[in-house]
Amino acid sequence: MDFRDSTAQAEWRQEVRTFLKTELPDEVRLADPFEGELGNSPAVRRWRSALAERGWIAAGWPKEYGGAGLSPLEQFILNEEFAEAEAPQMGGLGVMMLGPTLISHGSPEQKSEHLPRILKGEVQWCQGYSEPGSGSDLASLQTRAVADGDDFIINGQKIWTSGAHRADWCFMLARTDPDAPKHRGITYFLIDMKTPGITVRPLVNMANHHSFNEVFFEDVRVPRRNVLGDVNRGWYVGTTTLDFERSSIGTAVSQRRSAEKAIAWLKQNGTGLTPNERSNLRKEWSDRWIEVHVGTLLAHRVISMQAAGQIPNAEASLAKLYNSELTQRISRSMLKTLGTWGMVIDDRAPLGAATSVGYLSSVSATIAGGTSEIQRNVISTRGLGLPRA
Ligand SMILES: Cc1cc2nc3c(=O)[nH]c(=O)nc-3n(C[C@H](O)[C@H](O)[C@H](O)COP(=O)(O)OP(=O)(O)OC[C@H]3O[C@@H](n4cnc5c(N)ncnc54)[C@H](O)[C@@H]3O)c2cc1C
Repeated sequence: MDFRDSTAQAEWRQEVRTFLKTELPDEVRLADPFEGELGNSPAVRRWRSALAERGWIAAGWPKEYGGAGLSPLEQFILNEEFAEAEAPQMGGLGVMMLGPTLISHGSPEQKSEHLPRILKGEVQWCQGYSEPGSGSDLASLQTRAVADGDDFIINGQKIWTSGAHRADWCFMLARTDPDAPKHRGITYFLIDMKTPGITVRPLVNMANHHSFNEVFFEDVRVPRRNVLGDVNRGWYVGTTTLDFERSSIGTAVSQRRSAEKAIAWLKQNGTGLTPNERSNLRKEWSDRWIEVHVGTLLAHRVISMQAAGQIPNAEASLAKLYNSELTQRISRSMLKTLGTWGMVIDDRAPLGAATSVGYLSSVSATIAGGTSEIQRNVISTRGLGLPRA
């Protein structure tokens, strides 16, 4: 594999860099990735319209739907440069997950109702898949949708629903045929979060952040026109959505940046350490440095496959597994490096709250988007061809 950009790729990279240099307002930079909301300040609005003008809110969507129609490799370069510049992408789940699913499975009416509003940033979407008894084994979900004339009536509970407290709409899965085999009785719904009968209850994580929620559905009436794809085929519609959640170059770049920050801090402030401590930290960070580059290579492998028209499967699981576990190792190394400062949860700490909050938040990296055990199952069965247990 040749890691150098072709002439066309180098020009594209330069175009993205120039855009970031001229258009990215300082106050919009993702200085603290754990802060969550960007809000809707004039600077954020300016940034959003600069992106929208180029179709870069949904850079991977086809041009006819308002995207930039970029190839996977062009998107990869764009994502890499955005991560380098700590520039936030503005689309959220609507762009990353729902949009591609709507483009593949939506009716013309659904596309024209939802896609333009996602692109303008007018609506926020949340993903209602997981339930208290169904996460890894999602197809066992129990939330029920029962047909009633032109509507479905939905009852049940979702959990870990990120951003449900800010979302205008939810794409969710519910069981429409309890007698069918479990993958075949599920339907994909688009639900307005203001519909009567929906209750959102906050779940505050151990870093004291409110990002996910429980969502309760009590006799929620949803018009049949809000079914995406066919009734009882929602599992197959839903797995299209999951295919878009796997890129990891942004994570790889931000891991390298965290390692760089910690190493720079250590070089300046490590003078008070004992020779033993210095030697241990030196070894620890050389390991992290090598691992950061391995993570980047795994991301390159996934994108090379996509660029060649192949569908990364076990390879995407390998990248997800490695990068999420590396996030945790980097967080632990940062905590060790800063010593007791690593426990300070606000900006008084030398590297800001990123160390303490990052450490607490990193626990969820190996759960969200499919646990490490599930990734290992995929690698062993689909990648290595081992028999199922
Ligand atoms: C930060 C965060 C944000 C999230 N946001 C959303 C969201 O917006 N929308 C949404 O729908 N969900 C969301 N989730 C939920 C997430 O998808 C689930 O937590 C995840 O799929 C795991 O499911 P579970 O929590 O039910 O654990 P379980 O599936 O109950 O797993 C429990 C343990 O058993 C292990 N295990 C389970 N099955 C197997 C197996 N077959 N082989 C080996 N080990 C196994 C798991 O690895 C895990 O260690 C979010 C989760 C997190 C942490």
